[in-house]
Amino acid sequence: MPELPEVECVRLSLSQSLAGKVLLACHIHHPKVFLAASPLKKGVFPLSVECLERHGKYLIMRLERGYRLVVHFRMTGCFYYREKNEACAAHTHIEFPLDTGNILCFRDPRRFGRIWLIGEKEASPLEGLGPDALDIPEKVFISSLLQRNRRIKPLLLDQTVIAGMGNIYADESLFRARIHPETQSSLLKKKKLSALWKHSQEVLHEAIDRGGSSISDFVSPGGVIGTYQEEHGVYGREGLPCSCCGAIIQRIVVGQRGTHFCPRCQKPVH
Ligand SMILES: [Zn+2]
Repeated sequence: MPELPEVECVRLSLSQSLAGKVLLACHIHHPKVFLAASPLKKGVFPLSVECLERHGKYLIMRLERGYRLVVHFRMTGCFYYREKNEACAAHTHIEFPLDTGNILCFRDPRRFGRIWLIGEKEASPLEGLGPDALDIPEKVFISSLLQRNRRIKPLLLDQTVIAGMGNIYADESLFRARIHPETQSSLLKKKKLSALWKHSQEVLHEAIDRGGSSISDFVSPGGVIGTYQEEHGVYGREGLPCSCCGAIIQRIVVGQRGTHFCPRCQKPVH
């Protein structure tokens, strides 16, 4: 599943090609993927794209007249462009013809991805999300985690607490901060949480710089493949030696998610 860095890479790439362009219409081939109040489905296009934003793992296209397209890629969703005379790829569910003559297509083999078209005053799926993991100030990060007495890994993944932290980057941030993923958050000292904030920022920025991690099917709209998986310290490295201490990286299940850690660098706190 694309996490924050991968969605940010999509945002950066689409911003260059899409800002200022006009979505002339919206062709829906699979209605489950596209959600909008029914009056919106017809009659609102053409709409020009003002800018692209991101909150957590959601991509937000700000359109004229206060409209927004909110996108969640889930497992296998992705955008690509095609020319008018080019055939549409399999599993393309939504198409937006543009004033440039190209067509912006949303493809999603597993169909878990969603696109919402939302009017200015309508509720959006972004409501209820916590602060974005890249914008959250250190103090807010620490107090949010201390307020809730839960195991740190599932807490980091809770999108209502911090939006955008996913499985890969939670494991990598905990490894760098030397925190066992099952540690109760209330047992962590402020200094440790401060280190976790710092490392989470580092990990996310480094991943964005490397174009994200290419695991499963993630490819950015330009077909660029991220290389951050080469930098993973623990994620996907079970059975391999820790780059810090040489102990064997382990994989356990925490809150139903596969979790990777070094048993020597990340000691449990009781
Ligand atoms: Zn280690």
